[in-house]
Amino acid sequence: MNTRFKSSLFVRIFATTAAVISVLFAIMYLLSVPFIQTTVDGIEESAGHTILKNVYEMVEQTHLDLENYRQSIILERKAQLQNIIAVVESHIKMLEEQVLSGKLSKAQAIDTLLEELRHIKYGHDDYVWAANYASVLISHPDPQLNNADFSSKMDLRGNLIVPPMVAGGRSAGEGFHSYWWRRLGEQQPIEKLSYYKHIPFFDMVIGTGVYMDDVEAAVLLKKKVAVEDLRHRLRTTHLGKSGYVYIFDGHQNMVIHPNPNIEGKDFSHQLNPSTQTPIGQLLMAVANKQEGLHYLWDSPSDPGNYVYDKISWVRYCKEFDWYICTSMYVDELDESARILKNRVLAVFAVTLLLSVLLTYLFAKKLTDPLHKLSDTALQVENGDFDARCNLNRDDEIGVVATAFNGMVSRLQDNIRHLDAKVVERTSELQILNRKLEALSTTDGLTGIANRRCFDEVLATEWSRAARLEQPLALGMLDIDWFKKYNDHYGHQAGDECLRRVASVFRANVCRTSDLVARYGGEEFVFIAPATDGDSALSMAQKVSEALQGLALPHEMSPFGCVTISIGVAAMDPRDMHSPDILLQSADAALYRAKEQGRNQVVLA
Ligand code: GH3
Ligand code: MG
Ligand code: MG
Repeated sequence: MNTRFKSSLFVRIFATTAAVISVLFAIMYLLSVPFIQTTVDGIEESAGHTILKNVYEMVEQTHLDLENYRQSIILERKAQLQNIIAVVESHIKMLEEQVLSGKLSKAQAIDTLLEELRHIKYGHDDYVWAANYASVLISHPDPQLNNADFSSKMDLRGNLIVPPMVAGGRSAGEGFHSYWWRRLGEQQPIEKLSYYKHIPFFDMVIGTGVYMDDVEAAVLLKKKVAVEDLRHRLRTTHLGKSGYVYIFDGHQNMVIHPNPNIEGKDFSHQLNPSTQTPIGQLLMAVANKQEGLHYLWDSPSDPGNYVYDKISWVRYCKEFDWYICTSMYVDELDESARILKNRVLAVFAVTLLLSVLLTYLFAKKLTDPLHKLSDTALQVENGDFDARCNLNRDDEIGVVATAFNGMVSRLQDNIRHLDAKVVERTSELQILNRKLEALSTTDGLTGIANRRCFDEVLATEWSRAARLEQPLALGMLDIDWFKKYNDHYGHQAGDECLRRVASVFRANVCRTSDLVARYGGEEFVFIAPATDGDSALSMAQKVSEALQGLALPHEMSPFGCVTISIGVAAMDPRDMHSPDILLQSADAALYRAKEQGRNQVVLA
């Protein structure tokens, strides 16, 4: 895990993808949740309105049913009135026929008729009356009203009573008229519906009426049953968790309410606790308004604590003078939206977590082999050419790994090959070096000039001496009995002896223009420009003496120490073309020195 977060590729892929996913989820959340909330709120609110509408229609229907009921009773009453008048009329017809047949005079017939009419009683103290064309009640069972002039008498509402019926009867023959009258023997006027009929033969209008209070009583009874039915239905109507429907009338009497303590009571004194205005008036003010009334109220679980937001929508039913209200707690209205919002949030959170986890796994799967590859590359960089990346994959990374391994193998082979080449070349170089050494001007054993150098200097000095017309001297030196020295002391001691002789030689032939060189084996030479034979001879003697001064032991020599023989020659090279002659002279002088017993200097 730790190394994972050290891998910058992993961090880059994982962080970028996770950030993009998170931002996308945030955008989706911000776009969807407020939309869901408003939509669900709208649905809940419209459910409240729908219930209100349904209840309103139910009340309207109840009203319609009651009206129909009232009309059917009235129709029945009307038919009853017509029947009674029809019976009376058939009796009047008989009197009419008696007058026409001369059995009765018209005045007798009228008296008989009016007297009979006064005694007709039916139903609930109902009766038949007669009025002449001047609207005088010529027959009435109440002695106080019998023969009373009603031409200008008005009912409680200020309407004429008899004249409209007389006029209606004379013009249309019959009709109904409604007015406010008191029942026989009672003082309180009540609405009365009368049926009247024109009796042209006797110049009068007769009529009978029925008091409508019993109709109203029947309707009221029916209404009571209907309200009870409505009450029962509203009890089972719910909005949200604890919302309900209630109805109050224009006098702020609670007609229907789920709380029996409030139902049937006057609640005009009930104030809105936050505004101190009567709640009933506030509700009446928002009747039929879409926005409804927002107010603070207590809750069933926390009575008396008026802090809970409530909303009521109100519709007014004119026919009953009823205010139909739905009421619910605002947080219940929001509850569905809240639940849905939380669900969406939970789904989003789980999906986001899963996505991030998948991203982590994906990034890990992608970067792990690359990490392995980079590790191997670092190992190779640090010189471990045996390191290999074991990735058996059939994708591009697998191809890279295989190619990398192949490259490292080739590199390893090349390095091995190169090492062998270097060894080979080094030994070749050593051989060459040795060759080069021979070619160089210095003798490897003694450190003085070699034969090659001697040859070149001899030729150069020979030419220069010829040019400058100066003599050139040459000495040839050979160690005496040196084979025996080697045999006796060994070759290494022989080499050391050669080095001692050379250093003595060099120390005693010391002009800058002079040259000492090893000629080969135990033989040495010197060249001394601008030097004659005598000078060369003394130079050679100086060398010989210096060596003797060292007294290097040589048991096999008759002299007991290492000695040398020197042949010296000096000549003017003016007329001679080659320096060989000088060399041969010196060699001959050396030969003579050997012959004469060794350990001596001979001038040619
Ligand atoms: P003479 O007095 O007649 O010169 O006798 P000599 O023994 O010195 O002469 P000879 O020519 O018979 O022997 C020369 C010897 O020098 C033979 C050889 O072993 C030895 N020699 C030549 N070059 C070297 C060298 O570089 N190192 C050593 N240790 N010995 C050498
Ligand atoms: Mg020799
Ligand atoms: Mg010798």
